[in-house]
Amino acid sequence: MEASRPLIATVKRGSLDDGPGIRSVVFFKGCPLKCTFCQNPETQDPEPEIAFRSEQCIRCGSCAGACPEGAVDLDDSNRIRRDRCVRCGICAVVCPGRALYFIGRYYTTVELSELLLRDRAFYRYSGGGVTLSGGECTLYPDYVESLLHLLKVAGIHVVLETSGYFDYGIFEDKILPYVDLIYYDIKLMDRQAHIKHTGRPNELILENFHRLVSDAEVEVHPRMPLVPGITATRANLSAVADFLYKTRVTSVSLLPYNPAAVEMAPCLGRPAPKLPGNFMKPEEEREIYAMFSELLEGMRDGCLIAPERELKETFLFNKI
Ligand code: SF4
Ligand code: SF4
Repeated sequence: MEASRPLIATVKRGSLDDGPGIRSVVFFKGCPLKCTFCQNPETQDPEPEIAFRSEQCIRCGSCAGACPEGAVDLDDSNRIRRDRCVRCGICAVVCPGRALYFIGRYYTTVELSELLLRDRAFYRYSGGGVTLSGGECTLYPDYVESLLHLLKVAGIHVVLETSGYFDYGIFEDKILPYVDLIYYDIKLMDRQAHIKHTGRPNELILENFHRLVSDAEVEVHPRMPLVPGITATRANLSAVADFLYKTRVTSVSLLPYNPAAVEMAPCLGRPAPKLPGNFMKPEEEREIYAMFSELLEGMRDGCLIAPERELKETFLFNKI
């Protein structure tokens, strides 16, 4: 697959969670990071994938009969022998219950923009638009430039969700001019911990964040996923608060832990990460917000926390 021809894992229409208003969210396949806690693990691999959900299987055997590679084993709880599977998708076509399903579809930018523009009336009346997510859409700068050009001609508000692991020059040239708001993930401040849990060091991510906040005119909103024992530790929260405050951003959102990786990874034939299988309890979230508030209040120059805004987990920095 060429880097300029990304696969799209899914297009979610009518989202209320990925930026202002009602939005369509495009989940690109492919990411330079491999976060153990990724809540969309099906978007990490740039190639097409087959997922299997055993609870939806009616054991009809159609998949075994159709597979040209002999890669389906009805007695195996994972159903697919990944060492034989060539990801052709035939088993998913014949599966009556969508227990097997194919992830990854190619759209031309014209096809994708036409799909996204079907909801333009909703965007207009709600103050919404389109959000590019993933995966990491900045892996495909030419494709994204072409898509965003089509959306901007139609006057669509664009949010970009990014891990920050990109070549700044290419990003600045091809993508940044079309983006209205950037949601930028800040995960771990310790370099070794970042490598351990995401597969990459964090210098490029932090440098790019600094440059964007300093130089770009677009709004950059940092977000931090809370993962018990990994990102949601006092030491990491403290380091993140310090970094953001010095970077002179005005707000940050702490995103409650999402255990999707624990459920989804085995469906893709990968081992489940050693992480909690449940969402955080409200009291655990409150404890972390309180800890973060306390850390901010203790910072030199002072700052004001206003978690009562529309997102309770969004903190505002008020620099004196
Ligand atoms: S994707 Fe193709 S090769 Fe893989 S299990 Fe299904 S039918 Fe067989
Ligand atoms: S085709 Fe689908 S429902 Fe039938 S045995 Fe295979 S996975 Fe199960």
